[in-house]
Amino acid sequence: MTKETGSSAAPQDVLVLGGGLIGLCSAFALLRAGHRVTLVDRDRPGSGAARGNAGEITPLTALPLAGPGMMRETVRGVLTRSHFLSIAPLALPALTAFGVSFLAHCSPGRLAAGTRALDQLVRGAFSAFDAYRADGISLAGGGSGYLYTHRDPAALAAYRDGMAARAEHLGLAAPEPILRGGAVQEAEPALAASVGASFVAPSERFIDPGILVDELEARVRAAGARVIAGAEAVRVEGTASRRASGSGPAAVIRTAAGEDRIVASRIVVACGSRTGEVLRASGVRVPPRLSVRPGRGYSCTVGAETLPRALLGSLDRRTVAIPLSGRLRIVGLMDFDGSHERFDPSRMRQLAARASGFVRGLDWSDVTEEWVGARPMTPSGLPIVSPLPADPRIVVATGHNMHGVSLGPVTGELVAALVEGRPGRIAGADVDMRPFALRAHTRGESR
Ligand SMILES: Cc1cc2nc3c(=O)[nH]c(=O)nc-3n(C[C@H](O)[C@H](O)[C@H](O)COP(=O)(O)OP(=O)(O)OC[C@H]3O[C@@H](n4cnc5c(N)ncnc54)[C@H](O)[C@@H]3O)c2cc1C
Repeated sequence: MTKETGSSAAPQDVLVLGGGLIGLCSAFALLRAGHRVTLVDRDRPGSGAARGNAGEITPLTALPLAGPGMMRETVRGVLTRSHFLSIAPLALPALTAFGVSFLAHCSPGRLAAGTRALDQLVRGAFSAFDAYRADGISLAGGGSGYLYTHRDPAALAAYRDGMAARAEHLGLAAPEPILRGGAVQEAEPALAASVGASFVAPSERFIDPGILVDELEARVRAAGARVIAGAEAVRVEGTASRRASGSGPAAVIRTAAGEDRIVASRIVVACGSRTGEVLRASGVRVPPRLSVRPGRGYSCTVGAETLPRALLGSLDRRTVAIPLSGRLRIVGLMDFDGSHERFDPSRMRQLAARASGFVRGLDWSDVTEEWVGARPMTPSGLPIVSPLPADPRIVVATGHNMHGVSLGPVTGELVAALVEGRPGRIAGADVDMRPFALRAHTRGESR
């Protein structure tokens, strides 16, 4: 592990709660900066949404989910069980505050503001992964290039135009021209004959997320971190008075043997979609725009006659097919019913039908790794990367929505900066952390 040269802070004993993508990336960044780390996970590191996701590192599409068009999708999500977005009517009362804030963020102005905030992190995504590779972390199993399809060629062209503008804005390679007719399958034989138009965004990348989390866990262990599996964080305790008296912040941890209290000099709360529960139990007030709810998605790995060269995404079917480690992973859907891990077999069948609509030669008798995981969703689409106002020695890092792979390594860097009390810098620029902050609500601020 290369010692980070930018850090000159005194080494801290940091307790990281949650060993998913963000917890592991944070632990890695903290160890790289010379701190001592204890990592606890209620399950085992790499659980939650960390392992079975699509592995996309996609700056061009790392945007908030809320935006024009999502109001209609939300209504369909309540009314239609087979829609890509499914919202259980019985869960609506519990989701009211989240839903009201989400719908408020669907305006073009809010989307633009959220995108500007997120782009501060997005701009550093590729270089942070390049630094991982330079540090010997394997990013194997994936590749590059994202091929988009849509049954409506006009909709595909409009999408490509938007992406071309975004590629120029981010300084990335422009999407390739749209192919039509037989040229589509000539260029990518894995596409079904019914697909009439496609284009490739060559800059986008994908990795096998299972390999990434296994590598990170191995590296943090090798760097001396203490890793405790099967230990659930119940709440954190930190206050100005504790701080004044010189006591470190503490976390109450529940294991099969009972409850225990761990005191550290710094604590990072990175419990993914369950972070809201931990913060509520700790008496922390979260502004509605950053309240975290589970948005469950599904994946499975299937035998394929022809493995595609690039990641295949159907915009109208809201489903992706990714060649990972010699197999094809199918990923999609978003369920809101309050549960973090309920597996609904009918949703898996719907996912299979969606994939068969645009990918050729899938062997559904050869399915492995059926998986469900909960994205930590926030109404604004922005993550929380913030000290607790009551005790800045406790840092919260969660709410990465559909982008926790893309933004994991940069978030780790920001967490290390917050732990050391210095400004976060990504891609050579100071990050304005206010959009990601758990600060007190002020008049006129976006809810
Ligand atoms: C179907 C699907 C596809 C996705 N595809 C992509 C993609 O292609 N690209 C991308 O960038 N992102 C993708 N994502 C999103 C990405 O997976 C998440 O944003 C990311 O996993 C969030 O990281 P996290 O660490 O916050 O949460 P998680 O990765 O879910 O990790 C949370 C960890 O905390 C542990 N934990 C929970 N509660 C506690 C507690 N109380 N005490 C101790 N430990 C606890 C869990 O066991 C888990 O290990 C996808 C998500 C899904 C569901």
